[in-house]
Amino acid sequence: MITIKSPREIELMEKAGEIVGNTHNYLKEYIKPGITTKELDRLAEEFILNSGATPSFKNLYGFPGCICISINEEVVHGIPGNRKLENGDIVTLDIGACYKGYHGDSAWTYAVGQINEEKAKLMELTEEALFKGLSVIKDGARVGDIGAAIEEFAHKNHLGVVKELTGHGIGCEVHEDPDVPNYGKKGTGPILKAGMTIAVEPMLNLGTANVFMLDDDWTIITGDNLPSAHYEHTVLVTNDGYTILTKR
Ligand code: MG
Ligand code: MG
Repeated sequence: MITIKSPREIELMEKAGEIVGNTHNYLKEYIKPGITTKELDRLAEEFILNSGATPSFKNLYGFPGCICISINEEVVHGIPGNRKLENGDIVTLDIGACYKGYHGDSAWTYAVGQINEEKAKLMELTEEALFKGLSVIKDGARVGDIGAAIEEFAHKNHLGVVKELTGHGIGCEVHEDPDVPNYGKKGTGPILKAGMTIAVEPMLNLGTANVFMLDDDWTIITGDNLPSAHYEHTVLVTNDGYTILTKR
């Protein structure tokens, strides 16, 4: 079921989204060669708790970290641990925060030190793909319009579109209806209505679109070990467009 949020619920989601955006802004200063992903996770938890919220992903479906940290060929759901960031890596922080029962969810890919041109281009294009997807959102648009916009842009730029993972509705659950795929056909899928809140999150690969799961049962990596980038905002559908709730 796709829910329309009340003004009160939207207020809480704005606050949750603000905390997520602030957590990104806080953590990006720490993204440097030598820091472990566990330390980033600890800083995230501390910041979210100090903001009066709780980390949405901690124990979600049994996830062992507070945020997901995915490096280079890791697409999503990387588990924080003892691995250190290295110069030339790209790293995605996927952060969720729950404030008074409502969630915000935003992923962003960052450069560690000096990265090569290919990775820089992948990051730039994936961020642009997110905004292409968002640009078609308004009351009366279809979920398929979002996927079609992202897929068309990605293919034009010869990037692989991950199909196994999608964006989603969001509210008092992190993952609500509808699924918001990063591929699709214009004019198809559920109709968007003002007051819906959804997370749009293209995951684009430099090479193959194929992905698989590591033995840890969490981390998803690209089939050819080429890098992947991931940008996500939680947004509110409005009459004539959208409002980003996870502003940064
Ligand atoms: Mg996310
Ligand atoms: Mg999400």
